[in-house]
Amino acid sequence: MSFTLHGIGASSGIAIGRAHLATPSRVEVAHYVLPEHLIDSELERFENAVEQTREELRIVRSQIPAHAPAELPAFLDMHLLILDDNMIDEEPKRLIREQRCNAEWALTQQMEALVARFNEIEDPYLRSRQEDVVQVVQRVLKTLVGHPGTAVPQTEEEECVLVAHELTPADMILFKNTKFAAFITDLGGATSHTAILARSLAIPSVMALHQARSLIRDHEWLIVDGREGVVIVDPDETVLEEYRAKQAKWRQATEKLKKLKSSRAVTLDGTTVEIYANIELQDDMPAVKEAGAQGIGLFRSEFLFLNRDDLPTEEEQFEAYRAVVAAMDGKPVTIRTLDLGADKQAPWGHTVADNPALGLRAIRLCLAEPKLFETQLRAILRASAHGKARILLPMLGNFSELRTTLQMIDGVKKDLRAQQIKFDDGIEVGGMIEVPAAALLADHFARHLDFMSIGTNDLIQYTLAIDRADDAVAHLYDPLHPAVLHLIQHTIKCGNKAGKPVAVCGEMAGDPRLTRLLLGLGLRHFSMQPASILAVKQQVMRSMISEVTEFAQRMAKNTDPDKTASLLDKLNA
Ligand code: PEP
Ligand code: MG
Repeated sequence: MSFTLHGIGASSGIAIGRAHLATPSRVEVAHYVLPEHLIDSELERFENAVEQTREELRIVRSQIPAHAPAELPAFLDMHLLILDDNMIDEEPKRLIREQRCNAEWALTQQMEALVARFNEIEDPYLRSRQEDVVQVVQRVLKTLVGHPGTAVPQTEEEECVLVAHELTPADMILFKNTKFAAFITDLGGATSHTAILARSLAIPSVMALHQARSLIRDHEWLIVDGREGVVIVDPDETVLEEYRAKQAKWRQATEKLKKLKSSRAVTLDGTTVEIYANIELQDDMPAVKEAGAQGIGLFRSEFLFLNRDDLPTEEEQFEAYRAVVAAMDGKPVTIRTLDLGADKQAPWGHTVADNPALGLRAIRLCLAEPKLFETQLRAILRASAHGKARILLPMLGNFSELRTTLQMIDGVKKDLRAQQIKFDDGIEVGGMIEVPAAALLADHFARHLDFMSIGTNDLIQYTLAIDRADDAVAHLYDPLHPAVLHLIQHTIKCGNKAGKPVAVCGEMAGDPRLTRLLLGLGLRHFSMQPASILAVKQQVMRSMISEVTEFAQRMAKNTDPDKTASLLDKLNA
């Protein structure tokens, strides 16, 4: 029976494909039945993943520091024993052979069976040992998802849509190598990092669907309209036809935009606008080149720290930053220092607080872990010898945070000088304006920084007190709220007064419906997912600054919610 679900359009585009339900384990994985000829390679893939996990555990075991608690080696030994048990390393193979299910599915089925048996144990201590089994299985699953091999759903016949209750940013990074036609989730908001990653993949996505995971059945046909935030389940032939036509039109428009790749982003009345790209990993560089970005306005370096149990070394970070800086060939590369915390948690991090978005996140975490921070600063400074790197500090709120960080940068520079290691002494240091306190006092921050970048995703979250990843309040997350527009405008004015460039690198910058509004508020530097660059450029090229300014002022002052939509329509007419 056909029915429609409404959520939040997190990434534009239309996909038509069959549902692949992610399992409700902590690592969300797809289920699918394998063709007979892939069974052997799937068995091999499973064995390799178990072996690799075993090897990882052994390495972690051998690197336990001398002062570590005595339980740690015993704990790792137990995990190694669990991994060697037939229940984990043999039984899933039987399921792969007999049920032809993919390795992830076989392993989660087995995990669920074991957990059910543990739940029958009366002794509470023994019963709680199920946690260890789950942790070991999660490790193997992560390895499997990270190395999808031949068993990634084969898309040559039909496209498939991943249906998950929730996907974390770390999961999305793993899915980067897979070929899903769309992602849909029950939870999440449009500016959650998961949604941002979906946009970076240029894959249609709808979030906050609430019940999709339980209402949709495996293999059911789905239409995903990422722009309207709609999912149509089991559509009839007429609806399918209608959406096939819409999909073709959307593809055509995307193709047409490609012609703008080397055009300059200049308004009809001659104002030049800079359009930079946001990236998460070095892998995003082909998309950056394809979109013809003039620089990288936001390199979310924390993604180098996710999906691993250890920390990336200075050398590893240096290599990642150097590669991007060199690839941009003298164009600016703005490397944001670690912004972990909130919805991006690393396994080695601090315990997750009750209210992580307000907790030890971003610059606060870095200042609490000076060694970690200095290692990253060294890597960025070393990379600055290979092109034009810039440092961007996330979540500044207090002047003391900025002062301490600037002192640390000076200290790291001094060490590098003493070691005769090359770096760009004039490297620019910018700050993200994403906490209302920083926006309100942007004049002061502007004096001590070389540039500012407004992180509207967090600025909206903190100004309106709306958790950006919480679907229950997603309808209140409003980029057009006059308080938000006022803070953006104020920050741009303070930057102009101090002669310091101001960019917006939050998701507002990549939404072509908001381009004119931002131009009208005085913005001249945009940074966004590469997939949005050409559409925003087109909008810039169709705009007159003299016309949009007056409308934007009216919107920033408008306190009548009923008028917001019509004002925006007029601005975009
Ligand atoms: C923002 O907050 O707008 C931003 C660009 O940073 P992130 O989305 O990574 O928090
Ligand atoms: Mg932010």
